[in-house]
Amino acid sequence: MPSWPRSSDAMAAPSLPLPVLGAEPLAPARARDLCTDCGVSRSSHADQCGKACQFIHPRYEALERQVHGRARDASRPDAEFFGPFLEMHRARLARPRAGAQWTGITTRLGELLLERGLVDGVLATASAPDNRWAPVPVLVTEASGMAACRGMKMGYSPLLALLDEVARRGLKRIAVIGVACQVHALRVLERELGLEALYVIGTPCSDNTTTANYAQFLARLTNRPHEVTYCEFMPDLHVELRFTDGAVRRIPFIQLPLADLPADFFPLTCRACFDYSNALADLTVGYMAGAGEQWLVVRNARGRLLHGLLAPELVASPLTSAGRRAAPVRAFLGNLLRAGDGLPLRRAPRFLRPLLAWAMPRFGPRGLEFARARVEMKVLEGILTLQRQRPHRMKRMIPAHAWRLAARYGLVEGPQ
Ligand SMILES: Cc1cc2nc3c(=O)[nH]c(=O)nc-3n(C[C@H](O)[C@H](O)[C@H](O)COP(=O)(O)OP(=O)(O)OC[C@H]3O[C@@H](n4cnc5c(N)ncnc54)[C@H](O)[C@@H]3O)c2cc1C
Ligand code: SF4
Ligand code: SF4
Repeated sequence: MPSWPRSSDAMAAPSLPLPVLGAEPLAPARARDLCTDCGVSRSSHADQCGKACQFIHPRYEALERQVHGRARDASRPDAEFFGPFLEMHRARLARPRAGAQWTGITTRLGELLLERGLVDGVLATASAPDNRWAPVPVLVTEASGMAACRGMKMGYSPLLALLDEVARRGLKRIAVIGVACQVHALRVLERELGLEALYVIGTPCSDNTTTANYAQFLARLTNRPHEVTYCEFMPDLHVELRFTDGAVRRIPFIQLPLADLPADFFPLTCRACFDYSNALADLTVGYMAGAGEQWLVVRNARGRLLHGLLAPELVASPLTSAGRRAAPVRAFLGNLLRAGDGLPLRRAPRFLRPLLAWAMPRFGPRGLEFARARVEMKVLEGILTLQRQRPHRMKRMIPAHAWRLAARYGLVEGPQ
């Protein structure tokens, strides 16, 4: 059984065996200061963490040019928030997949790529056999295997360790479904993997935490946490819980009993992550700007191909944008400044408390404006977190676009 690392921040990987489907057991991870165990340090590429890691050597702009042929265009306002894109869509699967986090677009894309013979394997994240919330990276080679990857798990998934398994099996065309810290490292390594085709499907990601912390969080929401099959922070400012008996409970954020969350509930890594919308993916599949539907960000020609594959199975509707984000984002910044080193909010999800204080959902930012608000909040949190906890890393880790977004709220490069 491989041993899991304990990094210096609060995130500890779950103590589970890693039943990587059909693969060799993973090597242990190397302990590093800021590390989300993307899998590189467990792989034959371990000596490349220094150049691949978004925390050690972030290279968003150069990688955007490498992957998309252009960096985000500051004159195109939404590219500043969401990264380079050709088009964005609001959509859902006409036949939603049971067990998916939203309608299962991500899962279906993996299936389609395998069904059509466009890839030989998909790297994705399934659940541990004994805990649906614990992430386990898998290499899926049959379309039917994608079903095991449905739904969000909380914790780090050492996905890129399986690049060795891809090489061992001689697979040349793969897809990778991952969060931004995984995709950053993948893009750095991409050219030396000897692949003939790589499709990168990214999801947005924020506020990841340990599987154990997440269990505590669920236990605060319900007296039957072991029966929860689904949990999501909805853009309409409710948490939706689903249970094994089919019951659904929606809790307004303002009523969440979270007063006693520990200060290290969210790891330092994820509080200092600047790529919320996964700008290096070919296609980002999220929900933030979807106003109840899914949100697709097509970033390049390969992303277009992916969207085109799926389009006949989608019900599309126009993206919307309403409300104003400036006041809630300012309120969030105020909370951050008052919070010191602890969590900015102690009685509601920290990123959403200001929204609650600001207005009822019908007046708050919605659709694209909600997504812009969330990106700005994450940028502000990242800057202040580094300033307090790793000031020597600020220069290297904070990308130019983050400073441009933060400037609107008075945070500028240099001593604050
Ligand atoms: C920790 C976390 C935080 C997120 N936060 C946001 C957010 O703030 N805003 C937003 O728009 N979207 C967020 N997402 C993405 C969102 O939860 C959905 O996964 C996404 O909208 C796709 O929905 P779907 O129905 O197509 O996914 P499904 O078809 O259900 O597939 C889910 C996919 O997610 C992958 N996955 C699951 N858990 C992990 C994990 N721990 N690490 C890496 N990959 C994983 C699986 O490989 C699977 O392919 C987050 C995802 C994660 C993992
Ligand atoms: S590249 Fe991955 S494994 Fe290496 S330090 Fe960064 S997050 Fe950790
Ligand atoms: S918030 Fe950022 S660093 Fe944390 S798991 Fe998600 S993508 Fe990785």
